[in-house]
Amino acid sequence: MTTATHPTTRSVAVIGAGLAGTGAALALTRAGFRVDLYSDRTREALRDDVPATGTAILFGASRTADAEIIADRYADNPAAHFSAGAAGLAGDSSNSSDSTGVASFPASYTYEAQSVDARLRADDRLAAFLDLADTTGNRFLVDPVTPDSLDTIAGTHDLTLVATGKAGLADAFATDTDRTPYTGPQRHLLTVTATGLPSDHVFTGRTGGTQSDRLTDTDGNPANNSLLSLHEEGEVFAGPYLHKDGLASWVLLAWAKPGTATEQAFHSTSDAASALQTLKDLHHREFPDIADDIDRLQPVESDPHSWLKGAVTPRVRRPVGETASGHLVAALGDTAIAVDPIAGQGAQLGDRQVAALTAGLTAAASDGKEWDATLLTDLFERHWEDHGRAGVAVTSLFLGDPLYAEVAGAFFGNAGADPAYATGLFNLFSEPAPAITLRTAADVARYVDAFRKVTA
Ligand SMILES: Cc1cc2nc3c(=O)[nH]c(=O)nc-3n(C[C@H](O)[C@H](O)[C@H](O)COP(=O)(O)OP(=O)(O)OC[C@H]3O[C@@H](n4cnc5c(N)ncnc54)[C@H](O)[C@@H]3O)c2cc1C
Repeated sequence: MTTATHPTTRSVAVIGAGLAGTGAALALTRAGFRVDLYSDRTREALRDDVPATGTAILFGASRTADAEIIADRYADNPAAHFSAGAAGLAGDSSNSSDSTGVASFPASYTYEAQSVDARLRADDRLAAFLDLADTTGNRFLVDPVTPDSLDTIAGTHDLTLVATGKAGLADAFATDTDRTPYTGPQRHLLTVTATGLPSDHVFTGRTGGTQSDRLTDTDGNPANNSLLSLHEEGEVFAGPYLHKDGLASWVLLAWAKPGTATEQAFHSTSDAASALQTLKDLHHREFPDIADDIDRLQPVESDPHSWLKGAVTPRVRRPVGETASGHLVAALGDTAIAVDPIAGQGAQLGDRQVAALTAGLTAAASDGKEWDATLLTDLFERHWEDHGRAGVAVTSLFLGDPLYAEVAGAFFGNAGADPAYATGLFNLFSEPAPAITLRTAADVARYVDAFRKVTA
């Protein structure tokens, strides 16, 4: 991450200061380019006045791309990691070992997941970008960009990257209907960050044993736990999470299938306290094995924005667009690929796109090549083949798409008896590529073989 210089110093405008925009602004600054970062909010407002766009957990492999953008500040923070998981299936009394009616199976991750508030991550990037501003002349401009001003900006920079998330200026890019799997949201979402349980809490109702039975990862090191719970009307994830104010907390992230009572309950929430209460009630109804633990969680008092509800309309967009006067713009982060968070792919894809785009633009500049539509399309196509396609596919798998009915049945049906199935399933969060080709129970059996030595 050294600052490079180029024979011709090209200029880049980045619109939007979320994870993708701040990441691109920092990485391109370090690569030696002139960068103007446009934000509709001040630095303080980005961190303190809005909820995080999403939970933005980095599951294993994407942490390499993240470290290319900014040095990992959280590697040694025990509150920001987990590397063991326990899944629970409500209402599966045939496999349930106790009276709760929840069948459970543990999994050791083959990687360490890092869970840090997206507002804190974006603020780290912005701080590093601002630190370099004096020496580089690069600018952070608080300016809500309109389609008209985008036209002007794109006309005065060599490249303009639009990273305004799922909305904002995303309509500058046409939807790629062939790559977009659904025309509407597949789930309603409710998420809240809360304190009250230590990061290394052991959910003994699900994992068995007692609080003092520490979980371990595949190397035998102490591991924090995370939980994935499935019921007829949706899913819930719970995991340790480093809140932006430095608090060791837990994030609860829940999905509801459309038209269910669970969706109605999500709609009735109005603040962090009611969101948390709704998820406690859900646990008592569906997951009594861990409900008493979840009851100990309390809202983060210092942060009224520690919750979020809504739904993601999935969308893959064409990578380049044109402003009114015909200037080129390129899509980045959620603006380029937006997916339901059920497989935790969005921020991971954003990091990977930023890292690859920075390398591609740097190589082109060194070779004296234009940053034109052909180059930007080629770079996106590579990102799509390397990561985007798999991120979309694994999301469909976890959403229970009919295409994956046999695959999901094989994973969940065998995980209780054979830990390799559970480990293989959780590995897809980090390395989703197998989801592109898994179609049958036999495919799954072959895939999980690789995890047998890990779980033996
Ligand atoms: C509930 C939930 C959980 C998630 N969990 C995970 C997970 O575990 N792992 C994972 O990898 N991903 C996860 N994601 C996805 C992840 O959070 C997103 O992919 C990521 O945060 C998107 O970052 P971004 O920078 O592309 O967009 P955003 O975060 O939306 O940033 C866009 C920025 O642009 C600004 N902006 C908008 N319009 C303008 C304008 N006109 N002018 C200037 N600025 C503008 C916005 O204010 C914002 O600051 C989750 C998503 C959700 C909803």
